[in-house]
Amino acid sequence: MRRQADIEVPLPWHEGCWESISRARASGRLPHALLVTGPVGVGKRLLVAAIARSLLCSRPDARGLACGRCRECELLAAGTHPDYVVVSPDREGKSDEIKVDAIRRLSEMDTLTAHRGGHKVIVLDPAQNMNQSAANSLLKTLEEPCPGTFLCLVCEQPDRLPATIRSRCQELRVPAPPEAQALEWLQRHTSSVDAATLLRLAHGAPLGALALAEKGRLAERAQAFAGFTGVASGNRDPIEVAAAWNEHEPAILLDWLSGWVSDLLRLASGHQAPLLINQDKIGDLRPLAASLDPRAGHRYLQQILQARASEQSPVNRLLLCESLLVQWARIAGGRNPEPRKKGVRLEWTTADSADNNASSAS
Ligand SMILES: [Zn+2]
Repeated sequence: MRRQADIEVPLPWHEGCWESISRARASGRLPHALLVTGPVGVGKRLLVAAIARSLLCSRPDARGLACGRCRECELLAAGTHPDYVVVSPDREGKSDEIKVDAIRRLSEMDTLTAHRGGHKVIVLDPAQNMNQSAANSLLKTLEEPCPGTFLCLVCEQPDRLPATIRSRCQELRVPAPPEAQALEWLQRHTSSVDAATLLRLAHGAPLGALALAEKGRLAERAQAFAGFTGVASGNRDPIEVAAAWNEHEPAILLDWLSGWVSDLLRLASGHQAPLLINQDKIGDLRPLAASLDPRAGHRYLQQILQARASEQSPVNRLLLCESLLVQWARIAGGRNPEPRKKGVRLEWTTADSADNNASSAS
């Protein structure tokens, strides 16, 4: 897997952000607290790391980029710089919250002078994961900023932060790049022949697309999609496909499924050339769209989106896959397979026999 250090930062679409930080720094108006927002997969963390390196480096170049060779840069690269702290949810912990203890430790650090005489850089990531007490504690730090400390909150969902915190930070929004720029960058960084599909699946976010390529997600998606079309045609048992779907990462699978159903609805709406997420699957999607009842499709999409928004336990995930696929079989083919009863193996039928049995199967 590609190391983040191999990617040259600032990324082409970070230039505006980089310049605004450099200008603020040059004029002595660098904010005490920066709230870095923007969609998933646009490289917010890479940008924040580059800003941190730049602030801590003792010999940054004319653009403000860290030299990579001084003692400060060496300490940072080794992960041992005493004036650089990243506060994140405890990996060993049961919850994904950033708790008050972590913020209190950070506040104590904030009141100390920098060990190495330069800036102190504190990164909170993801900032929206602070619980209420942690946010209250952070507010005190923000109200009494300590000179030389640069606090950076990385956040995908700024709406989840208290307004009191947001109002005390300067927001730096990292945009998604224009499609052509994203594609050009992606093609330079992946050997995948299907960069355009990767980019659409990542909703236009180049680093998201790169992660999909590196994790072999296109092959996984092809398998899951074969289950989706197989269930629609009646050739695959929804319960068997559910077991296979349950092997995928739930958030990704639900994202794919919502994309397939959204594309079916776009095709069913009658637009001549709808913009599809799954343009590469248009040949399979068109006939499915032709037989889809749009109202049933919209209801189904709502269910998928609701499922995507809620956390599922491992047991519930399998049940969810089964339920979604049994419903999909009904919507797509007008067939009525009964959900599997406890201890009873569902006998799935071929397309022909299912048609013959359709009237008696309800
Ligand atoms: Zn340096």
